[in-house]
Amino acid sequence: MRADPIQRAIDEDLVRVLYAQDPIAFVSHWFSIVVLVAIYWSDVPSPHLFALCFGFYALANCAGLALWLWKRRYPEAVSPRTWVNLHALRGVLLYAAPGGAVWFAFQSANTDLPLLHTVMLVTLAAGVFMSNGFDLLNFATAIPFLLLPSIVLHFSSHTFDRTVLGIVLAFFFCAINVYAVSYRKLFRRVVEARVDQQYLAESLAAQKLVAEEASLAKTRFFAAASHDLRQPLHAIGLLAASLNDGTAAPAQHAKTADHIVRNVEALNQLFNQVLDLARLESGVTQVIRLHFRLAELFERVGNQYRPQAAAKGLALRIAPTSLVVHGDPVLLERVLSNLLSNAIRYTEDGAIWMGLRRAGRRSGGFVEVRDSGIGIPLAEQERIFEEFYQVANPQRDARQGHGLGLPTVRRLIDLLGGELQVRSAPGRGSVFRFPVDAGDPDGIVSSLSDSAAAGASAEGRRVLCIDDDPSILEGLSTLLSRWGCVVRGVPDEVQALRAVDEGFRPDAVLCDYQLANHRTGAQALFAVREVLRLAGQSEVVTLLITGDMASPELEALAAKGIPVLHKPVAPARLRRTLESLWQKSGVVADQVAGSNLIAGAGRHDAVMLPDRRGAVGPGQQDAAALDGHECVPRGLSP
Ligand code: ADP
Repeated sequence: MRADPIQRAIDEDLVRVLYAQDPIAFVSHWFSIVVLVAIYWSDVPSPHLFALCFGFYALANCAGLALWLWKRRYPEAVSPRTWVNLHALRGVLLYAAPGGAVWFAFQSANTDLPLLHTVMLVTLAAGVFMSNGFDLLNFATAIPFLLLPSIVLHFSSHTFDRTVLGIVLAFFFCAINVYAVSYRKLFRRVVEARVDQQYLAESLAAQKLVAEEASLAKTRFFAAASHDLRQPLHAIGLLAASLNDGTAAPAQHAKTADHIVRNVEALNQLFNQVLDLARLESGVTQVIRLHFRLAELFERVGNQYRPQAAAKGLALRIAPTSLVVHGDPVLLERVLSNLLSNAIRYTEDGAIWMGLRRAGRRSGGFVEVRDSGIGIPLAEQERIFEEFYQVANPQRDARQGHGLGLPTVRRLIDLLGGELQVRSAPGRGSVFRFPVDAGDPDGIVSSLSDSAAAGASAEGRRVLCIDDDPSILEGLSTLLSRWGCVVRGVPDEVQALRAVDEGFRPDAVLCDYQLANHRTGAQALFAVREVLRLAGQSEVVTLLITGDMASPELEALAAKGIPVLHKPVAPARLRRTLESLWQKSGVVADQVAGSNLIAGAGRHDAVMLPDRRGAVGPGQQDAAALDGHECVPRGLSP
């Protein structure tokens, strides 16, 4: 991952140090030119060639300075690697001349010249080692040009002195190369350490920023949530106090009670929306993909919103489609419900359109919800996905929503592996769209509109309830008894096992997750199942009710075949879940007419609750829509 940044950092550092030495090198080479010309001056062996060679040397030196100036003025003109390569080219030109010029010394009658010239070359080589040794390319294009001609000429002279000097030079050549290797390693390590430090500092700064943003978002979230929750609570408090007024007429009391109910509904709606978001955040919501006809989903959602649209005089148009989708119908229904309800809320006249667009996709397409409403300014189009953000509701009137719909929709689409897109302009309406994958028509097991035979299956069922909270146990027992169940309520696992021991054979065991004495509901359920199995009863429906959001634990429980419901559980939700599970378990399959099950074609067996919206307020509808995903039985028998 970090190899490239390191190589780039090394190149950048190389460029910095290679070019930093160039002005000094420029002066040194003029000094070298002057010295060499001076020592050859009295007896130049081939004057023309000599002039050509040293003219070239002087030009190369000036070219080196020009390169340095160019780099100084336009540092971004080429990449760091190219600057390094150009510097190496400058090395070839610059060192070839003095290195090759040693030939003149061997042509001269003056026998001191080879030694003098070689001393100059060794001095230049030391300079190259210091200024270019940390880069293999720059080093390798300078040192051989400087020293090899001299070494070769010394050895080829066949005199003792020259051969000894040749050996010393060759040794120097090897030594300088070996040192340069360690020099380069050291240089690389230093740069790596610097890059690591920089990388660490940058990622720490980024993490700090993310943490600060998350903390700010959380503060905003709680501020808005507490305001929106306090409002109805405050109203309920005042209204409830006014019920104590004995002088008020019964009609006034009825009106007050009605207000209380409406505020409770509003509270419930908001609470469920917040819980939904929390569920999505905590990862307990599972995606259960089925093959189903998109048109059926459109029809289902359309039927729910047609009356609302008609009440505002809006046309709700649903484009026919024959596409079979492979996706999660429950989550998609939730998405479409939110988008349609927004479209209706923010459109005063015109029409709302829901349909599929292929948009160039070979399979599947994009589901779009379009409206001709007020539209959303560009600057707000990212912010509308923030929790509790509303474009125009500064007084936070609860009747205009809470700003939780779109954040939930975005998370749902993320969970489904897509991306929610928005296109909108003020006064010109909005388009929200997300991708869907094509499914297999042969994989459709049941229609989305299949309805359950409601009610009958609870009658006469024996239910064992385990909860250490007496008031919950009491409430649960009363509710189940009202449905015709035979209920046994116990506070813990020991009492539950005793009840089974005494001959109570439950059709369902409902258990709170957190029990007293550090026992969990899962442990209690497994123990009861085991005892029942030993007693010869292999089929029992078990259901865990939890306020816990910890996803790994819940996933593990789902994997073990224990369905989970999250508190608060609405009675209708509990009943539908139980009935679905009884049907699924097949204990009394013959008692139940019809089927409310859509079997998953894939890994999961999905329980689709018959009417996820039920007789609850719109907010609860939303929350209930996720229920099928909290309860994911995978093999209900022990
Ligand atoms: P809510 O609708 O409850 O306020 P949402 O999260 O669903 O919350 O939407 C956030 C904001 O985005 C809304 O307050 C509204 O200003 C804007 N918005 C959402 N959908 C539309 C739409 N179809 N047309 C215009 N504005 C919209």
